[in-house]
Amino acid sequence: MRYYTLREREKVRWSGGYDMGRRWQLPGVSCPTCGKTWGGGGYDYPAVDLSKLGDGAQILERPRCVPWAEFTALRATVLPLVPCDAVVTPVSGFGPLTGRARGRFGPVSVHMPWTLLVRPDVMKRLDGLTGAVPVPAAFRRGQGDGELLELQVMPGGKFVGDGRHKSCKTCGRTNWVLPPPEKWRLAVPPSADFARVTASVVVVSERVVQQLERQLEEADIVALDVSGQPGHESPLQLGR
Ligand SMILES: [Zn+2]
Repeated sequence: MRYYTLREREKVRWSGGYDMGRRWQLPGVSCPTCGKTWGGGGYDYPAVDLSKLGDGAQILERPRCVPWAEFTALRATVLPLVPCDAVVTPVSGFGPLTGRARGRFGPVSVHMPWTLLVRPDVMKRLDGLTGAVPVPAAFRRGQGDGELLELQVMPGGKFVGDGRHKSCKTCGRTNWVLPPPEKWRLAVPPSADFARVTASVVVVSERVVQQLERQLEEADIVALDVSGQPGHESPLQLGR
């Protein structure tokens, strides 16, 4: 099975855009071991409802930064509610997108390439595909602008180069900088059709690219091949 990352063309015919807001998020951290203050987007779980935590959820409504020990205590309250294979990091988000959205959206959107949005008419094209849970976005937008669904995508697969860099033994932060997308290669393929290989990268299987061929074309999205053996350097780009 081949895998692809989805990128927007430089010029797209769609005007849609949005601000990245989410109902709840874990705070960023200051780590006592590596000295870094950080938090990264990507490991978000829109289908996870934290309202069951009551007051415990309220303190996750405002972005902030806390010491590592406070972060781990907050994360412990959340973990029982997330899928067991989830990666939960500083600034992991939960619940639907809540920012302001404007403009017209194509059938599929990857403005922020780690977040996949689809229009409701695309949902039937996802039948039989694994690894994506659709969650209606709670955007603030004009009446009659139509619904958008965000796809919750779980971690899976590994890129060549991942693991070669030491991570902080306390907070897990690495200083690995992803190479340009043309050089991405999967060392370990995911087991699902949709998978989050790193915080900021979602890959999809050739079945997704085939089943959504017309929708991706209409959305001005190209599929860049990231399959291949470790160390294989020559990129293979679909001329879509
Ligand atoms: Zn650290």
